[in-house]
Amino acid sequence: MNERQKYRLRTRSDKELIREVGPGKVYVDRETGEEYAVVGKVLPLAPSPSNTPWTVQNLRLCGCSLEQLTPKDVNDCVHCGRRLPAMGSE
Ligand SMILES: [Zn+2]
Repeated sequence: MNERQKYRLRTRSDKELIREVGPGKVYVDRETGEEYAVVGKVLPLAPSPSNTPWTVQNLRLCGCSLEQLTPKDVNDCVHCGRRLPAMGSE
């Protein structure tokens, strides 16, 4: 289980970063020196069996009747519990 929540951070010039944040910590962009502000939590909400942000690249269809997207880095569909086929074997 991944219990650390990831957040979406953004600078004034709309540079985005997804990472875990520590309480009271300030994150500054290395190139521009701008401070990142937290703009939202990233799905899945912690705790979750998945460690990847819910973006198109990290999701796939489970194949069950629910037709839900499930993270690629889990063995079982997070919606129906169905065992997912190994990656690359459609
Ligand atoms: Zn499913």
